[in-house]
Amino acid sequence: MIYIGCHLSVTNGYEAMGRKMTEFGGNTFAWFTRNPRGGKSKDIDPDDVRALSELLDKKKFGKLVAHGSYTMNLCSANPDTRKNGLEMLQKDLEKMEAIPDQYYNFHPGSHTGQGADTGIEQIAEGLNKALWPDMHTTVLLETMAGKGSEVGRNFEELKKIIDLVDCNDKLGVCLDTCHVWDAGYDIVNDLEGVIQKFDKIIGLDRLKALHFNDSKNICGAGKDRHEKLGQGMIGMQAMKKIAMHPAFENKPFILETPNEDEGYIQEIATVKSWFND
Ligand code: FE
Ligand code: FE
Ligand code: ZN
Repeated sequence: MIYIGCHLSVTNGYEAMGRKMTEFGGNTFAWFTRNPRGGKSKDIDPDDVRALSELLDKKKFGKLVAHGSYTMNLCSANPDTRKNGLEMLQKDLEKMEAIPDQYYNFHPGSHTGQGADTGIEQIAEGLNKALWPDMHTTVLLETMAGKGSEVGRNFEELKKIIDLVDCNDKLGVCLDTCHVWDAGYDIVNDLEGVIQKFDKIIGLDRLKALHFNDSKNICGAGKDRHEKLGQGMIGMQAMKKIAMHPAFENKPFILETPNEDEGYIQEIATVKSWFND
């Protein structure tokens, strides 16, 4: 059993995404809570969300993984950008309450020259303002490739953020296979070692979802260029081993591979076939 899906556009509403993923053969999905490059987000229609919830129950979907905007940066050196980022996060999390008990993933941020330690503090500061004790969403920090000044390029940095957040029972981690590989974690030759490291530093109980991507680059390249499953440097054999690893059982797997609809339909079918052998 696996929960597998891809990113979908929210343009036609929430129930439409559920229907589309059912047509794709998947049972989870991701969507951008607003335009990935920033901008306004549409209000939620309660009937639409109710219809989606019914569909998710009926089709036995796994948890959904909303994705925050790429422009949201809680640790920019520019205070206006930081303030903007916090406002986006607060509005997104408010909106997520309409679809309770799902995941909201975001890129921790880029410190833009301030240094990782300052970045970590500012991200935690933002989260401390945005999270509240009885919220119904689990917020996921995404593991990053470490390009530019990205924070979250190793498990230690994510752990430091988590430790500084008061309501950190609302925090988890989304492991992006392309990102950890590009960051230097060898999930091809030492998957067990990487998982053990994650467990030792962060704790596997924090691992809530995966972004399931191959990579155009070699391990440690620090680049972040996704590739179709089996066509990159991670390769199909390793992708299959990851998907079937007991540590990731029942987690939502989200494809962020460079594909059109047809490509996603095929990749979803490929991943599902591993579980029917
Ligand atoms: Fe991401
Ligand atoms: Fe990702
Ligand atoms: Zn990426």
